[in-house]
Amino acid sequence: MPGCCNNEIEFDGQSPQYRRVLWTVIAINAVMFAVEIVTGALSGSKALQADALDFAGDTGTYALSLWVIGKPLLWRTRAATLKGASLLVMGLVILVTTLLSFGNAAPPLAGWMGGIALLALAANVTSALLLMRFRNGDANIRSVWLCSRNDAIGNVGVIAAAGLVAWLNSPWPDLILALVMASLFTHSAFSILRQARHESS
Ligand SMILES: [Zn+2]
Repeated sequence: MPGCCNNEIEFDGQSPQYRRVLWTVIAINAVMFAVEIVTGALSGSKALQADALDFAGDTGTYALSLWVIGKPLLWRTRAATLKGASLLVMGLVILVTTLLSFGNAAPPLAGWMGGIALLALAANVTSALLLMRFRNGDANIRSVWLCSRNDAIGNVGVIAAAGLVAWLNSPWPDLILALVMASLFTHSAFSILRQARHESS
């Protein structure tokens, strides 16, 4: 689900392997953000665009994990605030454009929608497997596991919605899922901001 991975995850150590893996995961997530935003727009699928937000959030989370190593708390808090604010803006944009398309919606291209969601699933599983070795402590293992599992549920949701779009020849499965995902995402962007404010006071 979008935004599930927005809690800062502590990883083990500063080894070159760890940094290399983080860079790889950041690249995977950034590329998938771009792919889903573009194909979401081209295929007319709002759910793909909403799922793209999760990749944006995860890119931010892992970039932050890399950047904050050795930085003072104040900078971490500022970075978290910046991340929360930019995710909130993106979430609201998708939420509003989804609501605006309720009036004149046409069914999205279901083949593209399902195909890209399958690619997104592969990207999330790959990221999870790469990070698996570097988690520090049981709580973090659980946190990465839950986050990957929820992302996978989101991807499967988009695949299922694509099936329903094709079957019913209707835009509604796409729009309803997009609305749910964008709402959850906006909600978690708010809680990042609240948490950052709490830490800075
Ligand atoms: Zn995620």
